[in-house]
Amino acid sequence: MRFALINNKRVEAEPNLTGICAGCGMQVIAKCGTQRIHHWAHRSKVCDPWWEPETEWHRNWKSNFPLEWQEVILKDDQTGEKHIADVRTANGLVIEFQHSAISPLVRSSREAFYRNMIWVVDGTRLKREHQRFLLAKDQFFEISQNSFLPGDPGHCLPKAWLASPVPVVFDFRSDLWLSGSFMIRDHLYCLFPVSIGQSVLLEKIPVKNFIDDALNGKSPLRLRSYLNDKSKFLINLQNQLAMLQQMPQRRSTVNFPPLIFK
Ligand SMILES: [Zn+2]
Repeated sequence: MRFALINNKRVEAEPNLTGICAGCGMQVIAKCGTQRIHHWAHRSKVCDPWWEPETEWHRNWKSNFPLEWQEVILKDDQTGEKHIADVRTANGLVIEFQHSAISPLVRSSREAFYRNMIWVVDGTRLKREHQRFLLAKDQFFEISQNSFLPGDPGHCLPKAWLASPVPVVFDFRSDLWLSGSFMIRDHLYCLFPVSIGQSVLLEKIPVKNFIDDALNGKSPLRLRSYLNDKSKFLINLQNQLAMLQQMPQRRSTVNFPPLIFK
C-alpha cells in the first residue's frame, strides 16, 4: 500500500516507520528497500485478498490522480466486506489498475463489488500477448476514426478480459522493448463491453484524454455518448449492408452492457 495512518494522517512509507492499516486497523511496517517500490506491508497477510504487490506501473498511474482519490476503502454495508479501490473519483467511479494475471472469478467478484468501474490493464506483462496485439493492430477494421473491430479478438487481446461487463483499458505502452513503435506509445486501447457479431469494439484513446476525463468527471458521460454514437453507426451500417445484399434484415447484434455510471 502507498498509504498508512500515523496519528490519523495518511502517510507514505519512509524508513523505520510503522503505521496503521486504514482497512483493518492492524500495524503495518514501512518497506523501503531497493528492489521494490517503497510501500507499507502488513506483518502477516495483507487484509485485502484482492490487493496485489505494487509496481512502478501502479504508482505512476495512481499518481495522475489526487491523493485523496487513491487507495479508498469501500465497504459493503450489508455484508461488511471491505476492499481498497486503487482510485475512486469524486463522482464514485472506481479505476482498478491490474498488472498481475487475474482469474475470471476474481475479476467478476471485483466487478460485482465496485459496480461502477473501469479496469486499466498492463498489456505488456506477457511479451507474447503484447506482441500478438502489436502484430494484429494494423489489420483491425477501422469503423470510424480511432474506433476498431479486431478480426479475432480472442487472438489479439488477453482472453481473461473479453467477457468483462465494464470497460477495460489496455495500456500497451512500454519503454523496454518498444523503442521503434512510436504510434502506440501515447495511446490506450479501450475494450467496450459490447459485442458486434464475432467482434468487439476497441477505441484508441490518448492517455491524456483518459486521465483528463476521469479527473473532471466526464468519463461516464463520454463513454455513454460514445456507445450511443457507435451503436447508431453500426445499426446504420448493418441496414445498408442488408439492403445491398437484399437479404432479410437481421436483428441488431449491438448489445448494450449493464453499465451503471452515475
Ligand atoms: Zn489491513
